[in-house]
Amino acid sequence: MKDCIFCKIVRNEIPSYTVYEDDIVKAFLDISQGTPGHTLVIPKKHIANIFDYDEELASAVFDRIPKIARAVKASNPDIKGMNILNNNGQVAYQSVFHSHFHLVPRYTSNDDFK
Ligand code: ADP
Repeated sequence: MKDCIFCKIVRNEIPSYTVYEDDIVKAFLDISQGTPGHTLVIPKKHIANIFDYDEELASAVFDRIPKIARAVKASNPDIKGMNILNNNGQVAYQSVFHSHFHLVPRYTSNDDFK
């Protein structure tokens, strides 16, 4: 999609810090780091939200999320856990309408990142 900010990231028209990339997905650091290492995983194909996935794309994306989560965790021994979040629709606080999964690393104490 021409004006979609995440499609522009996929096409490298705007910069991002890429964590992982293949033919199906791109993972990059969220611009507003909820916690250090906060990463977004997106399908390269423009899909608005979870309701629009077909089975093939869903399996491909969901296959990759645990692998990317493990890689993010392995990047820092202080990461002790992780929230994986996915907002679908404006009423669910989705603000970028290109499907994405938030990987939010958690450290020793959540009190550090309120
Ligand atoms: P919310 O804004 O409520 O978290 P979403 O789940 O739609 O809603 O998340 C969109 C995410 O995209 C936000 O965390 C935001 O910081 C991130 N974001 C927006 N623009 C960029 C960008 N250019 N590069 C990286 N992350 C971005």
